[in-house]
Amino acid sequence: EEDVIKLRQSLGVKVSGAQPPRPAVSFAHFCFDEALLSAIRKSEYTKPTAIQSQAVPAAISGRDILGIAKTGSGKTAAFLWPMLVHIMDQREMQEGDGPIGLICAPTRELSQQIYLEAKKFGKVYNVRVACVFGGGNKYEQSKALKECPEIVVATPGRLIDHIKDKTTNLERVTFLVFDEADRMFDMGFEPQVRSIANHIRPDRQTLLFSATFKKKVEMLCRDILTDPVRIVVGELG
Ligand code: ADP
Ligand code: MG
Repeated sequence: EEDVIKLRQSLGVKVSGAQPPRPAVSFAHFCFDEALLSAIRKSEYTKPTAIQSQAVPAAISGRDILGIAKTGSGKTAAFLWPMLVHIMDQREMQEGDGPIGLICAPTRELSQQIYLEAKKFGKVYNVRVACVFGGGNKYEQSKALKECPEIVVATPGRLIDHIKDKTTNLERVTFLVFDEADRMFDMGFEPQVRSIANHIRPDRQTLLFSATFKKKVEMLCRDILTDPVRIVVGELG
């Protein structure tokens, strides 16, 4: 127990919540299969970043997560790798053709960055990924959604449009991520974020990431996360 505390201190990670798992200081400790580990090694990453070391074991164990860490700390992979593991578990078990993983991000640029990263690592398991965002061609996006992507990356407003148009069906989503929650609030997306969360089945796993932790984010967490592991890297922004 004491060495776990020291380990977290050395990583600069603060953790709260019921029984958080031990952080993993090397990729080998993530219990990923050889295919995913080899893709990570090919990225020339040598070890997990602080947020990855704590968030990945918690997410793999099925926990909801609140992750606070500044830009550039590797949050994307911290939710994408566990999402891929989850999809590999779920894809045979669940009927239907809607996405299993859903990631919401505030802007077109961010959603496209996440999309590229999801395709890069998703290739390991032939996971199909689609990206929908405001300002993009709705018809093209609808076509992409028809091709049964297992991961959808979306900006909140455009995703709501697709839900209304019934061009996507989120009944099968069991792994939900809100990235850059603080920016989503700054951009006025709170109603859309809450509406999306209400659309997804309650037995889902939910991960929420933010660079800062303000009152509104805290209140959203209270409403949409269940018994989360809270992870803070560095100082609270
Ligand atoms: P954030 O979402 O926290 O701003 P990103 O997920 O965009 O951070 O990652 C920032 C950069 O760090 C990206 O270029 C990414 O490829 C790289 N990166 C992610 N994980 C690692 C790692 N374990 N080791 C080295 N670089 C990494
Ligand atoms: Mg990010």
